[in-house]
Amino acid sequence: MSDPNKPSVLLIYTGGTIGMQQNTDTGALEAVNFNQLQKNMPELKRFNYNIQTIQFNPPIDSSDMEPSLWTKLVHIITDNYNDYDGFVILHGTDTMAYTASALSFMLQNLHKPVILTGSQLPIGMLRTDGKENLITSIEIAAAKNADGTAIVPEVCIFFENQLLRGNRTTKINAENFNAFRSYNYPALATAGIHIKYEYDRILKPNYNSPLIPHFVYGTDVAILTLFPGIQEGVISTVLHTPGLRAVVLKTYGSGNAPQKPWFIDELKSATARGIVIVNISQCPSGMVEMQRYETGLHLLDAGVISGYDSTVESVITKLMFLLGHNKNVEEIRYLMTIPVCGEFTIPV
Ligand code: ASP
Repeated sequence: MSDPNKPSVLLIYTGGTIGMQQNTDTGALEAVNFNQLQKNMPELKRFNYNIQTIQFNPPIDSSDMEPSLWTKLVHIITDNYNDYDGFVILHGTDTMAYTASALSFMLQNLHKPVILTGSQLPIGMLRTDGKENLITSIEIAAAKNADGTAIVPEVCIFFENQLLRGNRTTKINAENFNAFRSYNYPALATAGIHIKYEYDRILKPNYNSPLIPHFVYGTDVAILTLFPGIQEGVISTVLHTPGLRAVVLKTYGSGNAPQKPWFIDELKSATARGIVIVNISQCPSGMVEMQRYETGLHLLDAGVISGYDSTVESVITKLMFLLGHNKNVEEIRYLMTIPVCGEFTIPV
């Protein structure tokens, strides 16, 4: 029986490099089960916390992540919500920002920390970054204010000393330990000798209402990245994909796109068919301002809506979340323009 006075954290192991080992035949890294991972982490026993684990069976490389597994994570967190102070999800880095963004929408009015972490080197390797990432994530997941509420009641990514809002984060480096960046929102905490929390940047849930978990999503979405010379046939094929309901359009600079009539007509006709098109910039830093240049104004005119300074991971997962709730086009268009859990900045 666990001691109710000890901080308690549920560790959910989905897979990823952190728990991988080299296959001696092929030389490739493969996910292994959590017991093997724990063997390389005797430090876990030194926590005076109640730490329980649940693992995906089999553990996956996060390139195999699917929305159905986001639902599975929501079920695990919801089923165990009252028994733990916080949750740590061990996840591959490749799609961690998508999972963090999706969970931020699916776990509405979260009162407890959900911290995703992983590593660039497996935990069994001498120079691994996994141990520090995991240990600090567990500490953050259990951290409480003097009144007993969680310090960070949000879905976050902790990596290489920084705690970042999950739906603001992007993987930016396939090699360095410093693999994630939140370009448009500052870190929620920094881990040095002490963990320095930035209290005024952290979301405050409504403590008078419970967690509202969501288990549904839609997948009739696409991401369309512009480049000079993109052909009409490509745009048209994407926008006429059978069943398509929403598109993330990755434009240039502050939300600009070609002014060619065929291009604007394709967008106009897609919005007229009820396809929601959200404009985000290919620049990771800064914000879409379609009224700034004529090349942006045409998009506004075609019914394209602004994603402001959102990440692509956040827009695509928010669209999937809203589509899953069978909201109509007008509701989706409206909800895309208001941040529901700090996912973008409303310009002043
Ligand atoms: N391919 C791995 C994954 O995303 C990479 C990692 O964990 O860093 O599962």
